Amino acid sequence: DPEKMEKIVSLCKRKGFIFQSGELYGGLNGCWDYGPLGAELKRNLKDYWWRKNVQERDDILGMDGSILTHQAVLTASGHVGGFSDPMCDCLLTKARLRADQIDPQTGTAYHYTGASHEESGFSVEKPYSVLVTGPNADENKARKTAKQYYAQFLSDKQIAPKKLSLQGESTSEEVDTIQYNPENGSLLTEAREFNLMFQTKMGASSDDNDPNAVAYLRPETAQTIFVQYKNVLDISRVKLPFGIAQIGKAFRNEINPRNFTFRSREFEQMEIEFFCRPEDGLALTEEWLERRLTFYAEIGVPREKLHVLDVPDGERAHYSEKTYDIEYEFPFGIQELEGVAYRGAYDLGKHQEASGKTLEYFDEETKERFIPHVVEPSAGCDRTVLAVICEAYDVEDLTKEGGKKDVRTVMRFKPCVAPIKAAILPLLKNKPELVAKAKEVQALLQPHVNVAYDATAAIGRRYRRQDEVGTPFCITIDFETLGEEGGEDLKDTVTIRHRDSMEQERVKISDLLGWLLPRLA
Ligand code: ATP
Repeated sequence: DPEKMEKIVSLCKRKGFIFQSGELYGGLNGCWDYGPLGAELKRNLKDYWWRKNVQERDDILGMDGSILTHQAVLTASGHVGGFSDPMCDCLLTKARLRADQIDPQTGTAYHYTGASHEESGFSVEKPYSVLVTGPNADENKARKTAKQYYAQFLSDKQIAPKKLSLQGESTSEEVDTIQYNPENGSLLTEAREFNLMFQTKMGASSDDNDPNAVAYLRPETAQTIFVQYKNVLDISRVKLPFGIAQIGKAFRNEINPRNFTFRSREFEQMEIEFFCRPEDGLALTEEWLERRLTFYAEIGVPREKLHVLDVPDGERAHYSEKTYDIEYEFPFGIQELEGVAYRGAYDLGKHQEASGKTLEYFDEETKERFIPHVVEPSAGCDRTVLAVICEAYDVEDLTKEGGKKDVRTVMRFKPCVAPIKAAILPLLKNKPELVAKAKEVQALLQPHVNVAYDATAAIGRRYRRQDEVGTPFCITIDFETLGEEGGEDLKDTVTIRHRDSMEQERVKISDLLGWLLPRLA
């Protein structure tokens, strides 16, 4: 549903959730800035993840590693040699494209046209050359241009035209492909591996060939955990199974960043490396999958909207016996939010080999020494924020029979992640007693939760404004609060208006914190 996505992107900008980075200068592709509300939302999500996975567990410890990473770490892990995506050039626009999918049976590479390639509407890839048109592309134009292109190509190469075969094929994503299947092998541009890591130089060395001056921005937080595993083990009294958790930035020079924040070049991960005895690895992978699915439901991404992909043989990393991808139904398609991978002893084994230092675990009961296995739930923070936003977005028709059209946009965030927990609204801004009381309520709540104060516009408009940014509770200070209406019983009470049901109730100011806090957990 591209229209829904457009509305969400526009709301995010209008309300200050997410802006394009460097927008003032035309934008920095693949980078995003979180505005005031986005920053709160993202921080709430990270805090919730940390609370559930670190604070409330005895067997997981936290860490916060550096982003600049020693070259040797990423050489040992295999990233320097092989962290790459297949890249090809579009022969029509010269744009560089990532092959999204390579069909293992036919070797055909597909690229789904997206924002990066909207203008031409198609692209060419390896090992067979495939022109792909997106749902928005002009199919006839694409076919015609494809034929013209191939005719030209064949004549340039002096290949007899009869060898050309163009096939139309519709896939479930409604992407039309026109396939050239040359009998004499591949042509055109060859797909080549493009390393996704950002390399940088450390220090003032001017020698470009000094290998000690090369560092990388980490492409995942995981490796910082593996190379500190031994230190954490030594300083704590943890026994297997135990985990190390980290939230932090990762960087990948994605060939085509797209789908809003979904695929960015700078993003945050929330990762746990859960170390265990080899015989427990598979069972723990299942356990973590279930635990992570529950987590998503708690933050407002229900189980029905998630898909679990049991990644088949041949598509998993070679060292992984089991990998699940947790996918979400984004408006732009079903896409990965998190991977839960059983990585065996691969990473620690590689670092032990490369560093020459033992990373073995000594089991005091059995007197055994071995390299622990690891189960890794690796979630993308920005992708989760995006899923939470997409899931929360709702347009509700409140038009009464025979009445004026009345539609409200409401972000149905779970209170635990909502950027603003409560809005404090004096009924009128020009009545000093109402304002003073409202400021008192604000001072009461502010040390505990993020609140908003709004005294402008009619109260109904202010409620709708808060609905649009997902504030679960509006607290109105009215004449009853002051004891000027409704009698002594209502004095020093406030109206609480619920975002989802729009129902109202009265709560004593002295009970307000005790009422509110459990509802935000
Ligand atoms: P993809 O196949 O979408 O490129 P991946 O399988 O390479 O993702 P992992 O290496 O498993 O991703 O990284 C773990 C998580 O980090 C992903 O599930 C995703 O949530 C997040 N992530 C990875 N790449 C990006 C990116 N470019 N932008 C935002 N989040 C990302």
